[in-house]
Amino acid sequence: REYTPKVIDINYTEGSDDKKWSSTNFPWTKELEAKNRSKFGNRSFRPNQREIINATMSGNDVFVLMPTGGGKSLTYQLPALISEGLTLVVCPLVSLIEDQIMHLSQANIPATYLSASVEWSEQQEILRDLMLCHYKLLYVTPEKIAKSDTLSRLLNNLYSQGHLSRIVIDEAHCVSQWGHDFRPDYKNLGVLKQHFPKTPVLALTATATARVKEDVVQALGLANCIVFRQSFNRPNLRYFLRPKTKKCLEDIDNFICTNHFKECGIIYCLSRMDCEKVADKLREYGHNVSHYHGSMDPVDRTHVQKQWSKDRINIICATVAFGMGINKPDVRFVIHHSLPKSIEGYHQECGRAGRDGQPSSCVLYYQYSDYIRVRHMLTQGVAEQTVTPRGGYSNSHEQALKTHKENLLRMVSFCENDVDCRRLLQLVHFGERFDPSLCGKTCDNCLKELEWVEKDVTNIARQLVELVTMTGQSHSSSHILEVYRGSVSQNVKKQRHDALPFHGAGKHLAKGEAARIMRHLVTEGILIEDVKRSGNIYGSISSVLKANQLKASELRSGKHSIVLKFPAPDKASKMGKLDVSSFPQINKTAHQQSEVDENLASMLFDALVTLREQ
Ligand code: ADP
Ligand code: MG
Ligand code: ZN
Repeated sequence: REYTPKVIDINYTEGSDDKKWSSTNFPWTKELEAKNRSKFGNRSFRPNQREIINATMSGNDVFVLMPTGGGKSLTYQLPALISEGLTLVVCPLVSLIEDQIMHLSQANIPATYLSASVEWSEQQEILRDLMLCHYKLLYVTPEKIAKSDTLSRLLNNLYSQGHLSRIVIDEAHCVSQWGHDFRPDYKNLGVLKQHFPKTPVLALTATATARVKEDVVQALGLANCIVFRQSFNRPNLRYFLRPKTKKCLEDIDNFICTNHFKECGIIYCLSRMDCEKVADKLREYGHNVSHYHGSMDPVDRTHVQKQWSKDRINIICATVAFGMGINKPDVRFVIHHSLPKSIEGYHQECGRAGRDGQPSSCVLYYQYSDYIRVRHMLTQGVAEQTVTPRGGYSNSHEQALKTHKENLLRMVSFCENDVDCRRLLQLVHFGERFDPSLCGKTCDNCLKELEWVEKDVTNIARQLVELVTMTGQSHSSSHILEVYRGSVSQNVKKQRHDALPFHGAGKHLAKGEAARIMRHLVTEGILIEDVKRSGNIYGSISSVLKANQLKASELRSGKHSIVLKFPAPDKASKMGKLDVSSFPQINKTAHQQSEVDENLASMLFDALVTLREQ
């Protein structure tokens, strides 16, 4: 059975609600269907594929939002095959390009690529063949467009002869600074539309926030493009968040043995060292596992990936470098051993599971302190990435860092939410409505069968902010919480924090409640978590809370109130139990209901949005 994403909210299928794109009476329809079968071995089209192809073949600029694994490549490879001339494909990674070329050459479709890694003499030969129209597809990395005069000359020549049939921007979200994967070289791709205004552009991405979409459309100059968009819900994936404790690796072992014994999976780890540690431990437990990360020898890396593709290795412990463009259909689980950097990233990484449509699991291990670690790494990483040989990105450096931090905070708030459906939380982020009753208990929050109550916690929030200010904005969140809950530990006494007005004011709160409110304050930007490293670069990382004075004063003056959902009191104990129990066995036959109640969906959506805006 194939994975066919269901379009739940037709309001969002902006292009595809125009019936004309589904027509089977286009001049190319026959050839299209024949080549889909003979060259690609597909029996039919997946949702939106036919529509997208018809729209781009008709000469329109088209913007496609389709989840990972939805089948975006076909929407330009088939048109390339049945069009005169050359299709130019811009793609961010050489490894992705090589993967595509391999598939195309297996299907006997003439395709080639130019990147810095191709030898000069070979490039000359390729360019000659390109001029002679020996190829249908030319893949390039974005920096080629920016730097290579030879390529520009070639494209100009082809264009003036009417032989540049289509320009494809794959992974188009890389254009956007708001995306989770911004690449400076993508920013300049707008020149393509300027130089080749008559050639239709097809932009493809699996990232769909409204902001990213607007950015991409703007940057690429696609003013009148047709947008195709479909639901990002992946019905066959189940989502679980687990508290990350010292027993995390035991828990992972338990989870795999119970639910996915000897099946294929990916475990995403934060650092290279984590990859190796996690792999070693799981090997001790008897699993067939390898690690994969950027500082490995490329030969070893390719070897590991091949072994995994051929099922000689079941599990790969990898950094996020692993997976872009990985095409294995039967990945049964994706585990996040550490906090993903953004909701988009999380969604995309999870999306590598269950491409064949079979039930698969996504488990995320979360502890708040990972937030500090990831944040620190982001700060370092951004610094490395933006120091380019040409310089000149110093302006965007701060902007990029800010975006990364915002994206990360959204991820934290996703994790901190132990009430709402995990599908709904992801889909809301992509601007899509989802009726959580359709989840059918396929996420941890729906599984709890929680009843919840809304509480106005503005007062508690105010007290916490006051405490942060009174203690001089130089303490960690756990210290503030200790004081708030009335601790008389030595550390608290030494600093005389037991004498402060709100010392012990939060005594009556259930465990974790104050912490959740505090984290909400951080994700809302009312409190700011500053990362500090003590001593030299090997010193430990610590964080101190500061207050955003403007927002704090709004809170104080009553301009801003805070309402959060909490588990209803009688069910709270049940939730606690679920957290410490061993991993629940997953009901493999449980599937999502397919009926859609539009009214209920929009009602819940509105309720949630109101809640977020408050
Ligand atoms: P995306 O780029 O959207 O993540 P891909 O283009 O890599 O997805 O396609 C994912 C998988 O789906 C590939 O293995 C591809 O062969 C397969 N696929 C695409 N279209 C079809 C189709 N119409 N029928 C069957 N399989 C398809
Ligand atoms: Mg793709
Ligand atoms: Zn759910």
